[in-house]
Amino acid sequence: MDEISNPQATDSPFPPTRRPTRANLFGMERAELTRFLEAHRAPAFHAGQIYRWIYARRRLDPGDWTDLPKTLRAQLVAEARADAGRVVARTAASDGTVKHRISLPGGGEVEAVVMVQSGRVTLCVSSQVGCALRCDFCLTGKMGLTRNLTPGEIVGQITLAHGEHPLADTPYNVVFMGMGEPLHNYDALTAALRILSDPRGFGLSRHRITVSTSGLVPAIERLAQEPIRPRLAVSLNATTDEVRERIMPINRKYPIARLLEACRAYVGATSERFTVEYVLLDGVNDTDDDVRRLAGLVRGLPAKINLIPFNPVPGWLAYRSSPRARVVRVRDSLLESGVAASIRWSRGADARAACGQLALLPDREPAARAKRAELPAGVERTGRRVQDTTP
Ligand code: SAH
Ligand code: SF4
Repeated sequence: MDEISNPQATDSPFPPTRRPTRANLFGMERAELTRFLEAHRAPAFHAGQIYRWIYARRRLDPGDWTDLPKTLRAQLVAEARADAGRVVARTAASDGTVKHRISLPGGGEVEAVVMVQSGRVTLCVSSQVGCALRCDFCLTGKMGLTRNLTPGEIVGQITLAHGEHPLADTPYNVVFMGMGEPLHNYDALTAALRILSDPRGFGLSRHRITVSTSGLVPAIERLAQEPIRPRLAVSLNATTDEVRERIMPINRKYPIARLLEACRAYVGATSERFTVEYVLLDGVNDTDDDVRRLAGLVRGLPAKINLIPFNPVPGWLAYRSSPRARVVRVRDSLLESGVAASIRWSRGADARAACGQLALLPDREPAARAKRAELPAGVERTGRRVQDTTP
């Protein structure tokens, strides 16, 4: 676990309020299901069957688990549940992207997004309620961190998406680009990765899962040692440490050179590439000098650059999008210097479903400056809260 303070990291998966009386089996791995059955004096070998029902077959009512003995089914109905959460609102954007507001079994809400583009389906999932890292251009960062999601709350977003969209026969990708910093919730993330990639769970190839991080270097290094290694995307967003520190406070701890080295090591000797995400902010990180430096940083690395036009949220985020012609020019200049680059044109922006726009904030949009005044001095501008809690 990265050493940045995260009080949720070792807590019970259920917050103290609304602790359910019946155990929630959804989110348990096989070993936990086995322990649950043993504790309830039921034959432990049924754990595998339960695992398949809840993750592969997506049947969450214990009464439906027909290959279990009737008495066990009745016992499970009385003493357990399989709760993946609930979709409480959906908003469709004009491009077909659908944003889901999900009420979590452990309390609170997050957003998950389903994108369909030329037959390809991508599920963008959240890993935390809010985010502690407070990047200055990101709406989720404006919430601060409320809590970590449990493994069940993470994979539950995919189960719920299945219920909303006919995904069963469509190969889909999962990207951890929703709310939160996935590597700041390391244990739940890796448990979720095991359930997703298990052939008797979701059966999703690790190549179809991308974890996007703002750059928690020790956690990247640790993830490289895990049995399930997802694809890696790293949010670079600046070409000098000075600018990156300003917009992403985490850079004070893990500067650009160290971060890119950890990414290189992550893909190691494989033929895989990692993705460098680069949000284009008008006049901040999109100059010709930036393009030159960016090409220099990435040249020779097993990486491709994904340019993301900034998604504005007026009143909350004090940046402007680079003009479209500028975005195209950045891409073309990178390609001319021999660097793989593409543009991720925003999906779902009119439903506030695009990258960096997911957050559960009041509907009214206060002036950014007024909002700043409510925060402890210096938090947003310097990210000192992140710095100060680091041992
Ligand atoms: N915490 C992780 C994953 C969630 S953010 C991370 O930072 O990588 C997912 C992506 O959205 C990141 O690449 C981030 O740089 C980008 N992003 C954040 N705010 C944005 C905004 N307002 N417009 C466009 N992209 C944004
Ligand atoms: Fe958190 Fe990622 Fe947003 Fe930064 S960009 S505040 S790390 S969600």
